[in-house]
Amino acid sequence: MHKVYLSLGSNIGDPVSYLDKAVDILKNTQDIHKLKVSSYYQTDPVGYLDQDVFVNISVYLETDLSPYELLEVCQGIEETLKRVRVIRWGPRTIDVDIILFDDIKMTDDKLTIPHPRMHERAFVLVPMFELDDQLMIEDKSIEELMTSVDTSGVRKL
Ligand code: ATP
Ligand code: CA
Ligand code: CA
Repeated sequence: MHKVYLSLGSNIGDPVSYLDKAVDILKNTQDIHKLKVSSYYQTDPVGYLDQDVFVNISVYLETDLSPYELLEVCQGIEETLKRVRVIRWGPRTIDVDIILFDDIKMTDDKLTIPHPRMHERAFVLVPMFELDDQLMIEDKSIEELMTSVDTSGVRKL
């Protein structure tokens, strides 16, 4: 079984209910097991600032799916919840990113793992830290990564 961390975020309509729906779909997906969900966090937007606050969660799961099959599940959830892409890093009903997949390191057109911007994103790190405060990402502990980001925009709901 592969051990995976996902990061989910939403900032349109009722973000908590979009996240709940996404978690339900993951729970009901064959080949996804042992789902653990972090607390829900309200987070200030980064990158593109002129938009509503986000709600972000981290999900841990175990699966026999390949990284590409799991990406298809993630994109299927975005499709089901009617995500429309307009502005890069802009508003969305749901975004589902693969952050870690075992200790795989890979990059191609479709998939980069670990997620290339995870190290700089408090909204990714803080909920993951809640799920496993001993996590290692390549040669660094999650605790160490957390010390180099500003966590002030990330508040437990
Ligand atoms: P960011 O990648 O900075 O978080 P974003 O999530 O808004 O931005 P999207 O428009 O959701 O970006 O995704 C663009 C593409 O990124 C997807 O079509 C997907 O193929 C690719 N991608 C690469 N690595 C990953 C990953 N680890 N998890 C999810 N998508 C990825
Ligand atoms: Ca993202
Ligand atoms: Ca994404």
